[in-house]
Amino acid sequence: MKLLLVEDEPNVAGIINKGLTEQGHSVTVAPDGQLGLEMANASSFDVIILDIMLPTMNGMELCRQLRHKKNLTPIIFLTALGTTENIVAGLNAGADDYLVKPFKFAELEARIKSLNRRKQLPIENDDQIQFGHLSISFHKKLVTQGDERINLTSTEFRLLEYLLKNKNRVLSRMEILEHVWGIDFNMGTNVVDVYVNYLRKKIDKDPSQKFIHTIVGMGYMFKV
Ligand code: CA
Repeated sequence: MKLLLVEDEPNVAGIINKGLTEQGHSVTVAPDGQLGLEMANASSFDVIILDIMLPTMNGMELCRQLRHKKNLTPIIFLTALGTTENIVAGLNAGADDYLVKPFKFAELEARIKSLNRRKQLPIENDDQIQFGHLSISFHKKLVTQGDERINLTSTEFRLLEYLLKNKNRVLSRMEILEHVWGIDFNMGTNVVDVYVNYLRKKIDKDPSQKFIHTIVGMGYMFKV
């Protein structure tokens, strides 16, 4: 895989670079945020590993700028900032995953692989998909029902996108939590149910054509 590592501490960058190179990856290291942004724009990477506390531009801002320019390269934050607020802010900035330092190298590698697999999930016609009255443009992140524009938050859109990518398949709450929120441990949270309900209220109002089905004891399915 072609990886971009944006990390300002030479020791940390050196260790990660060495480990990933030994695993057969090609690693480009950017020592600050501005350079990281330029490198990310200059060529295409499979995954970007991004520190948050960086000189010239912090990782959150870098991530936001890439997403703003529709650069959808999977991003994993690698940072010492590990509070729930930090993690939520990172995911809201458009990152796909979050790993708190100190971390085990094997875990970083597993997560990079998982991000790369996710990226390769087939999404048919990435511009527009039509389901009955519902029309979804992935490129514009826009959902319309008939003539009405439906405003989704970025998390609701990611949830809808994940359900659609796996349509007609039962998804457990854990799978949804992992893929939409990047959380791969059971926090005992009902955040998935809460967001599925938000999404239902916005896109699934027509009882004659319901998309999101609750599969009792298992999870949810987007049925078409
Ligand atoms: Ca740093």
